[in-house]
Amino acid sequence: MSLTPVGSTARWIAAGRAIETEWTSPLFSDPFARDLAGDEGFAMLLAMRGPDRIGDTTTPDPYFSIRTRFFDDGLIAAVRDGAIRQVLILAAGMDSRAFRLEWPPGVVLYEIDRDDVFAYKEPIVQRLNGQPRCDRRIVRADLTGSWTSTLAEAGFDPSRPSAILVEGLLYYLDEASATRLLSSIDALAAPGSWMGMDMVNTDVLRSPYMSVYVQKLREFGCPWMFGVSDPESLLAEHGWHGTIVLPGEPDANYGRWAYPVVPRTVPGMPRIYLGRATRMTAEEKAARHAVVASQKEEVVEKEPAAPARVYEAISEPDLVGAFGCPDGKGPFPAVLALGGSDGGVPTYFLDLLVPEGFAGLALAYFGAAGTQPALVEVPLERIERGLRWLAGHPKVKTHDGRVALVGVSKGGELALLIAATFPDLVGPVVAYTPSSVAWAGIDFTQPSGTRRSSWSYKGAPVPWLPYPEGIVPTFSSRGLVGRPIYERGIENTSAVERAAIPVERATGPLLLVSGGDDNMWPAARMCEMVVERMRQHGRANAVGHLNYPAAGHSLFPPKAPSGAPPPMPFDLGGSRDADRAAHAAAWPQIVAHLEQGRRPASSR
Ligand code: SAM
Repeated sequence: MSLTPVGSTARWIAAGRAIETEWTSPLFSDPFARDLAGDEGFAMLLAMRGPDRIGDTTTPDPYFSIRTRFFDDGLIAAVRDGAIRQVLILAAGMDSRAFRLEWPPGVVLYEIDRDDVFAYKEPIVQRLNGQPRCDRRIVRADLTGSWTSTLAEAGFDPSRPSAILVEGLLYYLDEASATRLLSSIDALAAPGSWMGMDMVNTDVLRSPYMSVYVQKLREFGCPWMFGVSDPESLLAEHGWHGTIVLPGEPDANYGRWAYPVVPRTVPGMPRIYLGRATRMTAEEKAARHAVVASQKEEVVEKEPAAPARVYEAISEPDLVGAFGCPDGKGPFPAVLALGGSDGGVPTYFLDLLVPEGFAGLALAYFGAAGTQPALVEVPLERIERGLRWLAGHPKVKTHDGRVALVGVSKGGELALLIAATFPDLVGPVVAYTPSSVAWAGIDFTQPSGTRRSSWSYKGAPVPWLPYPEGIVPTFSSRGLVGRPIYERGIENTSAVERAAIPVERATGPLLLVSGGDDNMWPAARMCEMVVERMRQHGRANAVGHLNYPAAGHSLFPPKAPSGAPPPMPFDLGGSRDADRAAHAAAWPQIVAHLEQGRRPASSR
């Protein structure tokens, strides 16, 4: 009988346990794992490893090793005081805890999995002369069916407390099956029971960081389907007091987790949860149901959202964006707008510019249909095309064929680069929180993209500043703090020189806007580098810098998203009030600058 695709995943996980067992100072020893994994288990392990670990069958995967040890410890602690003598391992796969853990006398351990799994596993265990250290009973059952009666036939007594393990299973089930399974467990877990389980959150299923991994599982025929957004509530619904631990936190670290632990307050991050739960009493369950029922009765009235402005969608070869202009015949002064690393069409700029009397082209340069997916070697010619299109529009009035340019963040970097590359096409420039150099590219799905330039021109990469080696990103409660990475990067003086944007070539004038509390990158410092470069080239009077010390990276009023949701939340620094105050102070100066190219008074 051959294994189902999801049954084969048990051999992959066993391969991980074999590697840990053979590692220096292993977190556990599983002498059965290598044989149970077999060649197929190691082949799947290799296939699931990222490109950085090609061919590596000797280095343990920290997550799987931590998970095994975490649940080894949890199970042994659960049976230690003698109250629990039934252990139930659901979807046991190649689990060998019955043979390898020190169980106290009297423990009966039930392993449940499908027939195909035991048809493969039992002959191997026998060949290895496995001697269980407890009363091991195998239960062949489908956990999406009526497995509790088969379990009872094997001797399980639901009136007695048990230790239950649901490891490596829930995400392989669809939501209805996972919920049914938790309800079945609810029905057979007596007071005093303990449960361990791992779960993924819903972001795992949709995050670009996880897309390659999730896609591979789909191709193996065992897709991940079930993610949880609030694991404690899910457990509570099924009668458990749950504690969730993230891999890398003190209780699940074992000196093996080399990555930052992203706080759970940071939304949108893919996460895997290690859970430990104890049973609620009947009174606690009843009290919880009463609270939930009363909450459902509360009706929340929402304010209707304001209708979004509608702009003309532009979708031509090499030109994707949205055009907007005020009512009337025009012609109107025009601005080409470039968004940041969220990609897509930055129509939020049109929402600001059109009411001020500008015609605007919000141009997509990546991350929108008809453009490239990642911010890597974006051809500057795409923006040149947009400038020519806008300047030729019948409702647009130009200054000697030039239009104004505004960009934010990576779009601010791009705006300065474009102004320096096409001085005959660009008039006044406003660069919000920009960079003074061309940075390495950004590709959340292919880390190799970060070792190429963000931009290209005439088919060649624009000289770029690499990200510094060996800096691990840090996370605050708001998200990833990028600033230390960029701060270290701009210390690379020779590379900074090569990658510096030759802003002095811009017709300008240039207006730079930055926040002093920008946690994304050191925009204020990079603005000063631009100012200094202009000064060195005798062009100090063609640049201004508005800096707002309390503001962060987002100096706009709240904006509608332009591209796909960010793959992870970023800590942008600042605060709602400081950012809004900065916008209110900057905006009239920005409008005046875009209209007339007047040199603004510096606010510093
Ligand atoms: N718990 C083991 C471990 O952590 O090593 C095995 C985990 S393995 C990733 C997934 C296991 O879930 C496989 O052994 C598979 O047979 C089992 N499984 C998946 N769906 C199942 C179902 N409907 N009924 C019983 N077992 C199932």
